Amino acid sequence: MTSFIITNAEAILTGRTGDDARTDGNLRVVDGKIDAIGDVQPVPGETVIDARDAVVTPGLVNTHHHLFQSVLKAVPAGVNAALAEWLRVVPYSYWQHIDEPTLRTAARVGLAELALSGATTVADHHYFFADRYDYDPADVLFETAGEIGVRFVLGRGGATKTRTFDTPEIVPFPTEPLGHMLDGLATTAARWHDPQPDSMRRVAFAPSSPTFALATGELREAAAATRALGLRIHTHLSENHDYTDYTAAHFGQRPMPWLAEHDWLGPDVWFAHLVECDADEVGILAETGAAMAHCPQSNMRLASGIAPADLLHARGGTVSLGVDGAASNEAADMTGAMYMAFHLHRATKGPRATTAETVLHWASAGGAKALGLDMVGTLEPGKSADIAIFDLSSPRHLGFHDRALAPVISGTGTVRHSFVAGRPLVTDGRVPGLDLTELAHDARCAVDHLATAVQAGATA
Ligand SMILES: [Zn+2]
Repeated sequence: MTSFIITNAEAILTGRTGDDARTDGNLRVVDGKIDAIGDVQPVPGETVIDARDAVVTPGLVNTHHHLFQSVLKAVPAGVNAALAEWLRVVPYSYWQHIDEPTLRTAARVGLAELALSGATTVADHHYFFADRYDYDPADVLFETAGEIGVRFVLGRGGATKTRTFDTPEIVPFPTEPLGHMLDGLATTAARWHDPQPDSMRRVAFAPSSPTFALATGELREAAAATRALGLRIHTHLSENHDYTDYTAAHFGQRPMPWLAEHDWLGPDVWFAHLVECDADEVGILAETGAAMAHCPQSNMRLASGIAPADLLHARGGTVSLGVDGAASNEAADMTGAMYMAFHLHRATKGPRATTAETVLHWASAGGAKALGLDMVGTLEPGKSADIAIFDLSSPRHLGFHDRALAPVISGTGTVRHSFVAGRPLVTDGRVPGLDLTELAHDARCAVDHLATAVQAGATA
């Protein structure tokens, strides 16, 4: 038996709601699980983690990301573009140049940033799978997640139809027949998916969108095949009004009733964005249990709008937080996402639209529910010991009357320590074994490689 105890915490936020959102005392971990919280004291020989001047929270759960974009931050052509233009000049212009070392570096950058912001679980939506690559992106991403130490969910993306843009220099979005895509999903799942409640590795089916990536006639077959494998479904949906305009024009209805007709709703589905989601659609989400990956920073950056996360929460639905790719959000970290989620809804709906405890719930328990990871997301005895300890010694975190709120609503959190299933992820503010000097060098090389490759393509 191995155990340690976290003592002297300024506050403990549990990730739960209402009166259960906060607790205090010490927290003991035994064999990777939370054994007790409250009036427990260290026993002789037990490792003690001092959380003085720190707040303890569940390890945070990021439910939507594109790690390959971690080396596509602030691409000049995309900084002031809305979604469609941004897609054309950033991910769709660069994807073919993401070779294996570049993807590995990008994943390291993104996962390190996330870990240092309190994330312990990351769901990555990787939507480029192509014969053009001489490597399997799934292997690179799972290997890198294992190296860093986070729980990892891969949304295995792809498309059966291309999305055309009027620029001949862009290599079209890679496509594959549905059977090939589902075979690829099954192969990736057989290699990496672990269905256990305390799983470190999960695979989901994640076409980039049901509208632009698949033919309508393929949706039911794809959903059935995914469920037969015991996997969940993830995709982008209703990111801005262009999307709902498209479904209205082509299917004569809004996305949610359209998806309901094709078996694409349920507690095993989570959608990124849902900015354009009307009250009836929020009701459908709440009734079916399909979850929202709320990505407030990306939605602001691309001028997409404000998703009704507060309304879905009020209706009893599942809200989680995603940072989204770092190419549409140059601060792809969980404390930044919480900060924006806390503030954004108040700007238009008043000061009771969100609370810090609710936002933390979205970033932890809501994320775990969206991903079906029943053992993580809250600090409770019996749950897996996925824990973040936020240091409060920086100037930003001084002067707080209610110190529990500091890492949630201040826009930055400095993680002193974090744990995944009781194993150290961040120790003394660092990811053990990760050489940041080397990573910075690799990131500079990746950016140079990508900029040169795209420039050469543009002038060829
Ligand atoms: Zn996305």
